Amino acid sequence: MAPSNLNPNLSADPTSSQALDVDAYVEGIRGGDRVVLSRAITLIESTRERDRVAAREVMDRLLPDAGQSIRVGVTGVPGVGKSTFIEKLGMSLVDDGRKLAVLAIDPSSERTRGSILGDKTRMGRLSQHESVYIRPSPTSGSLGGVARKTRETILLCEAAGYDTIFVETVGVGQSEITVHSMVDVFLLLGIAGAGDELQGIKRGVVEMADIIAINKADGDNVRRAERAQRQYENALQLFPPTDSGWEPAVLTCSAETGDGIEDVWTAVTEYVDHTQSTGFFGEQRRRQARYWMRQTIEQRLMDDFFSSSDVQSKLREIEDSVLDGTMSSFAAADELLDAYREGR
Ligand code: GDP
Repeated sequence: MAPSNLNPNLSADPTSSQALDVDAYVEGIRGGDRVVLSRAITLIESTRERDRVAAREVMDRLLPDAGQSIRVGVTGVPGVGKSTFIEKLGMSLVDDGRKLAVLAIDPSSERTRGSILGDKTRMGRLSQHESVYIRPSPTSGSLGGVARKTRETILLCEAAGYDTIFVETVGVGQSEITVHSMVDVFLLLGIAGAGDELQGIKRGVVEMADIIAINKADGDNVRRAERAQRQYENALQLFPPTDSGWEPAVLTCSAETGDGIEDVWTAVTEYVDHTQSTGFFGEQRRRQARYWMRQTIEQRLMDDFFSSSDVQSKLREIEDSVLDGTMSSFAAADELLDAYREGR
């Protein structure tokens, strides 16, 4: 796995704290230098004001190079086979000449080590491949903050020439909605026989899925997987038509043997062709871009508010008043907002 380096000085030490200048980030990423890409992602993950300014400049310069990829969200409960699936499908995609980036949003990664490790032990062969870039979930901050960084990371990866982006998340609710808001196609992995047909996955997640693949359809499990496939198909019939006009596909596959994996990718490309021909693809991306603008404003305002010394000096006392019932939540919020505005 030899990253192509434009400038040997750029890749001397990926953990070096010595900052690169904006030109070096931009040129390195355009040249597909993975070490520079990693450092740029670290830059956008940084909360330091100086890094934020540099990160914004890097993003602005690279935006015209971004966008040329298929962005695929992959979700499913832990153990369903997401990493095995991405490894299997990913190897066939890179064999076909695609360049693949695998990112993750794991809301549990801050508290625990996370359900998605996204590291080299999980996708052993894939992570060795020179056409693959794997980045684990950012660990700090709220889901909103983590998501914004992942959204920017998608753009950086595209500017670096990755034409297929997988964003993996665990089936635990809010994180799917977040991933759904940054991908073109949303793939739900399920397994047969986990009790109820929806397997603890919220109905809303099934409703978001463009493609459902029942994994582990191998050995004795094939018949059960096919039964689950029919259950999902029946369940989907009760759902209202999708905005994209696409009828969600339900397939079976085995990430272990590779059976059906190609068919899942065919469904992805059919979905992309369909939505590109109707214009939904571009429309969805534009809506997502506006959504992320608003999310970023919200996030920045919140950060600015809570880090303001005028707010900090009063926050504890006012919160105590809310907790002991001497002040309403609304009056408290108004007082803090006034303090914030006056301090500006
Ligand atoms: P994740 O938590 O969703 O990423 O799931 P993993 O990819 O780590 O897989 C969980 C377990 O299921 C591992 O032991 C895999 O070897 C196994 N597994 C994954 N896909 C398949 C499959 O298609 N068939 C079978 N039999 N086992 C699988």
